[in-house]
Amino acid sequence: TSLEQTLLGAIRTIPDYPRPGVMFRDITTLLGNARAFRRTIDELVHPHAGAKIDQVAGIEARGFILGGAIAHQMSAGFVPIRKKGKLPHETVRIAYSLEYGLDEMEMHKDAVKAGEKVILVDDLIATGGTAEAAVKLLRQIGADIVAACFIVDLPELGGRKKLEALGVDVRTLIS
Ligand code: 5GP
Repeated sequence: TSLEQTLLGAIRTIPDYPRPGVMFRDITTLLGNARAFRRTIDELVHPHAGAKIDQVAGIEARGFILGGAIAHQMSAGFVPIRKKGKLPHETVRIAYSLEYGLDEMEMHKDAVKAGEKVILVDDLIATGGTAEAAVKLLRQIGADIVAACFIVDLPELGGRKKLEALGVDVRTLIS
């Protein structure tokens, strides 16, 4: 089976979640499918085979699951990018807009050293607002962002273009 078929078949779509009119792409079914999960991680890691990646930064919460597996396979460290108020040490923080209102995300100031090569990971990119904020945070502490990886792209929402305009290489497995 093609990668696209495997992944499309493993992702569940929930209509009207979390609000009426939204088609939510539920990746928990992909995580629970051993073959699809392994394939996903392999495909996200493969383009970086042989490259020296220092850290994988995952966006809370689904980016943690993927990021941990990717970091292990790349022999890289893992850095959590979290909702505000969850990290115990000194942080850098950034506000970003959601569909309704603002939120803030943060990471530990010392989580990445200046010049370290970092891969950013989340499950899905829609408007790109979340990933853009994560890129800005990482760059604030001097990270060299090698790529931003997602399982799903919703191209009509423009997230990929937004990241590419910041000079970030974007890799997604399905649209
Ligand atoms: P954006 O900031 O690109 O508009 O939204 C992406 C963020 O919202 C990601 O952190 C992603 O996990 C979450 N998200 C938005 N829509 C969906 C969806 O349909 N399915 C999943 N799994 N996550 C979504």
